[in-house]
Amino acid sequence: MVKIGAVQGQILRVNLSTGQISLEAVPGEVYEKYLGGRGAGAYYLYKELVPGTDPLSEDNKLIFFNGPMAGTMAPGSNKINLTFKSPLTNTYSFSLCGGHFGPELKFAGYDGLIIEGKAKEPVYLFIQNEEVVLKSAKALWGKTIPQTNEILKAELGGDHNLKVACVGPAGENLNRMACITADWYREFGRGGGGAVMGSKNLKAIVVRGTKDVNVASAPKLANYVRELYKEFKAHPKVYARRWYGTIEMLEGINKLGFWSTKNFSEGYFAPGEEMIGPKMREQVIVGDGSCYACPIACGKISEINSPKYGKVLLEGPEFETVGLLGPNCGIGDWETIIKVTQILDYNGIDTISAGAVFSFAMEAFEKGIITEKDTAGISLNFGNGEALVAMAEKMVKREGLGDLLAEGVKVASEKLGAPELAIHSKGLPPATYDPRGCKGMALTYATSPKGAHHMISPTMGAEIAGDRFADVGKAGIVRDIQMQMALVDSLGYCSTMRFVYTVDKQVDLFNLATGLNYSKQELLEVGERILNLERLFNMREGFSRKDDTLPKRFLEEAMKEGPSQGQTINLQSMLDEYYQAMGWSEDGIPKEETIKRLGLY
Ligand code: SF4
Repeated sequence: MVKIGAVQGQILRVNLSTGQISLEAVPGEVYEKYLGGRGAGAYYLYKELVPGTDPLSEDNKLIFFNGPMAGTMAPGSNKINLTFKSPLTNTYSFSLCGGHFGPELKFAGYDGLIIEGKAKEPVYLFIQNEEVVLKSAKALWGKTIPQTNEILKAELGGDHNLKVACVGPAGENLNRMACITADWYREFGRGGGGAVMGSKNLKAIVVRGTKDVNVASAPKLANYVRELYKEFKAHPKVYARRWYGTIEMLEGINKLGFWSTKNFSEGYFAPGEEMIGPKMREQVIVGDGSCYACPIACGKISEINSPKYGKVLLEGPEFETVGLLGPNCGIGDWETIIKVTQILDYNGIDTISAGAVFSFAMEAFEKGIITEKDTAGISLNFGNGEALVAMAEKMVKREGLGDLLAEGVKVASEKLGAPELAIHSKGLPPATYDPRGCKGMALTYATSPKGAHHMISPTMGAEIAGDRFADVGKAGIVRDIQMQMALVDSLGYCSTMRFVYTVDKQVDLFNLATGLNYSKQELLEVGERILNLERLFNMREGFSRKDDTLPKRFLEEAMKEGPSQGQTINLQSMLDEYYQAMGWSEDGIPKEETIKRLGLY
């Protein structure tokens, strides 16, 4: 076994077709070249997945992998990564989840877990240190996320330290936007990992661990962490995030005119003036929540007591959910947003992707492409909250139009003959930032290996501080942030820690925890290596420059009014600049010299 601090050095491999469960050592080179988390996931998926694999076939894999920092004393060290081929995009995909599930898997003695094959009947996987067994989940099939958690915890003796990651009915019925939910409220959200898990007849993974995570220099790391906590305490952004959660970001993007509104046809939402952190705190927030070892605690518990929907209590909604189910559907009230979020969360569906398919359907309805005949009498206009609730319920059950919407916005729009109204890249809808008002996000969405995911390189802060409408010069910013994010996602931190964590600090933490001696340049090169490997995976699947694109709306329709008025995106020149910055050819293929330099062959 490798002698690197903070890692357990081994993973579990579970073949659901044969029932075989095996323990595998992870080669030292994998940690050295890819660290863990997203990087190790990319390594294993590239190495093991046969090109052309159907994402919903038993040949697809679910690769859960912790970063070296996960489960240590470092602030925010709780993100575990899941890598798989996406049934929504057919690309490489990964998804990160906070909470406690990742650290618990590490406490059980495993850095990662590879699930392959398909069980004949519904099962769940129980892991308690060395005890690893598959158990029947027939009684759990059809249950929601909260029901599954309650039943499993009761069945397993009521131990509140058990950590559960499970799918809801959406994962079971292969909704391509299905997520995997951990600890009731944290999700492996994007790309349809829940559908892959459902396709394998795997309802849940339950973990309990009691082992230590042994870092190389515990006293030095403890001192370093003590100083970091002081910095978190003093940081001006921490207060806002702790008090208002991620909602604190919404006010700014509305004022700057790039908040997704009515299927991204507008960038400013007047009722959004009321949908800001302090208002939310006053009106619906009733409690706070946190992931493992977090000094920020951005989780918010919300409650409504609605004449229409009764009492609804949930964790969230996060700002992306509010953006996509709110303004993007023309909705400006908490009652609807929280009710729809509950339906999606309880059934295990990515709220961003769902919001995008609903807003598409609303625009298609207003344009007469979908009629009341298709919606079973529902007037699916923008702003109709009851219609949105009804359509969410139909999608969960795959009933009527809901069955088509469950395929995601790309497939649904193509089948309805209206692909020009679908807002996505490679099949994955973007977050709530309209890239016409912040041009680096255009490159972020277009070049992301998993489709239009904002956290591949969230450039907003850097861009707002400079010229957010400029397209020239954005490639370097996007490339640098992409490398830094690949690093964060592979080390095992929550990306919000970047309030305080500079790359230099991450180097210090990594070296103190692992006992290795990486320079800043070496660590950033790991990020670059991961980005290139992800690119190579997608190229092997047939993706190329033509797929690094954006919806026609962003490219050709200028923002109509507001502070981002008149903006469109000149993507091709941005791509040229980006490929050059990445050491790729004009066609977006990593050059031989880049591949060699990064040690990818
Ligand atoms: S900042 Fe929020 S998401 Fe990140 S670790 Fe803390 S509670 Fe979790």
